[in-house]
Amino acid sequence: SQTFERPQSTRFLAVANQKGGVGKTTSSVNLAAALAEAGMNVLVLDMDPQGNASTALGAQHDSQTLSLYDVIEGRASIAEALQVCPDFENLDVVPSTIDLSGAELEISSLENRVYLLRDQLRAYLESSEKKYDYVIIDCPPSLGLLVLNSLCAVHEVVIPIQAEYYALEGLGQLLRTIQLVQKSMNRELVISAILITMYDKRTLLSHEVYEEVGQHYASLLLETTIPRAVRIAEAPSFAQSVIAYDPRGMGAIAYREAALEINKKSTHIFTLLDRLKKEQ
Ligand code: ADP
Ligand code: MG
Repeated sequence: SQTFERPQSTRFLAVANQKGGVGKTTSSVNLAAALAEAGMNVLVLDMDPQGNASTALGAQHDSQTLSLYDVIEGRASIAEALQVCPDFENLDVVPSTIDLSGAELEISSLENRVYLLRDQLRAYLESSEKKYDYVIIDCPPSLGLLVLNSLCAVHEVVIPIQAEYYALEGLGQLLRTIQLVQKSMNRELVISAILITMYDKRTLLSHEVYEEVGQHYASLLLETTIPRAVRIAEAPSFAQSVIAYDPRGMGAIAYREAALEINKKSTHIFTLLDRLKKEQ
């Protein structure tokens, strides 16, 4: 059926790709908004110092605001830094500020440096009344400590790939990093979806990228592709997701479908997690 189902327990997703400009932030924001629109309780963590996800979700993120920077460095809790998205009362955001760019260096000598976010998230979820269906982390375009913190705080990775030349360039390195994290830092980590973004159905190139990813990663590739659409690109300048900004447009429709596909994958994910737990 075409309806969203609440997952059995909270699903933790990192939207990651070390390439910039592939649609990580756009996908984090709009998947989160689509899930929230469908009634899910969603928390977005903006791990990119650029703060684009914060902007697109209408969160304040000037230098006075408590942000993930303060959370990572232990000066504030997630509860203290949390804001509610103006468009969806069941969508919470922990914003980032440009200060977060200093965190990688500042935490680099700490022994638990890759688990700072995970531990703050655990502490928050244990103490909070709120029960989230989804926690979505928008990763910065690197494979540095902020990304490792993100990958150690989740069970699932969603990889957006832009339908363009060299789309798969760098994917091998990303997959090796994820594998390394899975082996030595977070046994429960799996890649749950690959999402093709900025798809132009009129071009052969877009088809070729979709086909090529499908050949290598058939089980991960979402059927839904996200079209290149002006409304998707302009929504953030109105401090909105495209789900709120242009709810009937093709961008919103595509992100709703992608969110639904991800929502339906939950059974598969939980089977995998159960198997891993038995093996341990
Ligand atoms: P990343 O977070 O991976 O760096 P973004 O989500 O910020 O990538 O997207 C990069 C740029 O492309 C942004 O300006 C964004 O508005 C634009 N963009 C992303 N997805 C689409 C789309 N489907 N159609 C049109 N523009 C898009
Ligand atoms: Mg981004």
